[in-house]
Amino acid sequence: MPIYKAPLRDQQFVIHEVLGGVDELRAMPRYAELDSDTVNQVLEEAGRFCEEVLLPINRTGDEQGCSFDPQTHAVRTPDGFAKAFAQFREAGWQGLTAEEQYGGQALPHVLQIAFDEMRCATNQAWTMYSGLTQGAYECIEHHGSAAQKALYQPKLASGEWTGTMCLTEAHCGTDLGMLRTKALPQADGSYLLTGSKIFISAGEHDLASNIVHLVLARLPDAPSGTRGISLFLVPKFVPEGSGADARPGRRNGVYCGGIEHKMGIHGNSTCQMIFEDAVGWIVGEPNKGLNAMFVMMNGARLEVGVQGLGQNEIAYQNAAAYAKDRIQGRSLSGPKAPERAADPIIFHADVRRMLLTARAYAEGGRAFAYWIALMADRQLHHPDEEQREFGADMMALMTPIIKAFLTDNGFLRASECLQVFGGHGYIRETGVEQLLRDARINMIYEGTNTIQSLDLIGRKVLMDNGAKLRKFGALLQQFIEEHGTSVAMSEFITPLADLGDKVQKLTMELGMKAMNNQDEAGAAAVDYLRVVGHLVFAYFWARMAQLALARCATDGDKVEQFYRAKLATARFYFQRLLPETAFHIRAARSGAANVTAFQNDWF
Ligand SMILES: Cc1cc2nc3c(=O)[nH]c(=O)nc-3n(C[C@H](O)[C@H](O)[C@H](O)COP(=O)(O)OP(=O)(O)OC[C@H]3O[C@@H](n4cnc5c(N)ncnc54)[C@H](O)[C@@H]3O)c2cc1C
Repeated sequence: MPIYKAPLRDQQFVIHEVLGGVDELRAMPRYAELDSDTVNQVLEEAGRFCEEVLLPINRTGDEQGCSFDPQTHAVRTPDGFAKAFAQFREAGWQGLTAEEQYGGQALPHVLQIAFDEMRCATNQAWTMYSGLTQGAYECIEHHGSAAQKALYQPKLASGEWTGTMCLTEAHCGTDLGMLRTKALPQADGSYLLTGSKIFISAGEHDLASNIVHLVLARLPDAPSGTRGISLFLVPKFVPEGSGADARPGRRNGVYCGGIEHKMGIHGNSTCQMIFEDAVGWIVGEPNKGLNAMFVMMNGARLEVGVQGLGQNEIAYQNAAAYAKDRIQGRSLSGPKAPERAADPIIFHADVRRMLLTARAYAEGGRAFAYWIALMADRQLHHPDEEQREFGADMMALMTPIIKAFLTDNGFLRASECLQVFGGHGYIRETGVEQLLRDARINMIYEGTNTIQSLDLIGRKVLMDNGAKLRKFGALLQQFIEEHGTSVAMSEFITPLADLGDKVQKLTMELGMKAMNNQDEAGAAAVDYLRVVGHLVFAYFWARMAQLALARCATDGDKVEQFYRAKLATARFYFQRLLPETAFHIRAARSGAANVTAFQNDWF
């Protein structure tokens, strides 16, 4: 079974030293009382929960999967899932960032993201039940009526009830404008929903007493396309009573018609959901449903990015442990363990390359994701309007990058870490092949990574003439000016500044080309996201290198090994991984003709 140790030291480094998280948060009245000890304690407790409760049921969850009873439409989750969810609920974890008035703990998003990283590493399938619940909570918080909040928020914040997002239909995945589920208005202000959805994660299960579905559907007179989509709240059991006293009442006309048998995340139920005159209530305004659902979708995109980060980290930890233990062959530069029949494979240069690649992407991803979590709080709670706007802009710009860059990296690193195990990675016994299978979905759901790339280049960059990207560029520029004269930092600053210039030029070039032909943006989008993703990573790696250099300078020979490793990883990142941007810039600039000229009937 895979091992996992919560990466507490690195999490604390990122939150306290790189991001100055507690000071930033204390500037917001909501977190004025926050202190480092609280942050560290929550991280430790969360890590323990993941190591001791979630990890042990990850493998059995994969092997057993969920089961469906066609007679009762019930779904049974694997052994141990319900017990773990009850423990989680009792400890109050579901409401970590939820409002106190609903029984939540009102803690900052950075703790949620750190917890998400660890729980996705140790059990992604299980974590999705709670992740979707949090998404439903946030959507209702932003767009729900006062009555909906009073009724549903305490239940979702406690985890007594769980949530889902019901978008996809058999004929419409990416293109939601084609969806057909209907909602008929009733005299009492409610609606009756009819239609069917597919691929609904956590649509039915045995972890909670009620399930709150957030469903996209059309009103009878709705315009066609995405302008005619509304959002509805459809509970599995229609609640009776209110607030904390509410309880599941009569069974609603929504049920699971079957579950999918799939490549990974077997412990999470992927359900076909049937709506037959199911009673629902509109959330937000008619025909503005997609806009309201975007709260949930954006939250879910960040969460999915962090799923990629978690898979990257656990794959790294297991590969590193295996490489120290497994002996094969001799190091090219002479035996390193002459007393043994062969050297541990960790001495082979290419095994080290694979391990360092996984480590560099995990640590870079952690700094990036935790910074975005701070931006989430800045956007919501900072007293200064300009700061709130900055937070919102960074969230908007970075969401597709977190989603796509971190999940591509997560899958690729899981694959390379499996390679470190050789044939022992391919067979089931070591458990690493599960990581690869689980990580694959992250590149698909919540908008495929292609769609994220189109969102980045189109809506987030070109549509605002690069204004948000320039705001991020200003952060980079400030760092470059602060450290540009340091000789020790030049190995990091020079490539960072160079890539910043190249991204600027590439963006302008693609913008010009796209004005004549939109396919130019479409053909360049995936390469473009990879380049901008590296720009963000290079910025955080340069910041981490600067801190590590400073510590090495002050502590000399006594410097903690952590900082020496950080510096070495930063060097590896800049010398070995960042150069892939040259390839992607070239590919992005190559134009659309090399993909459009090929005739369809030649495929
Ligand atoms: C395990 C699992 C769990 C899921 N959970 C949920 C859930 O909880 N709720 C929910 O509503 N849905 C869920 N989904 C659905 C998921 O979000 C969709 O599968 C995804 O959005 C892609 O839609 P699709 O499968 O129909 O692919 P399609 O939209 O048919 O796309 C097929 C291919 O075409 C590409 N493509 C499509 N349109 C464009 C375009 N305009 N430009 C360029 N390329 C394009 C895509 O990138 C993809 O490569 C889940 C799916 C799975 C497999």
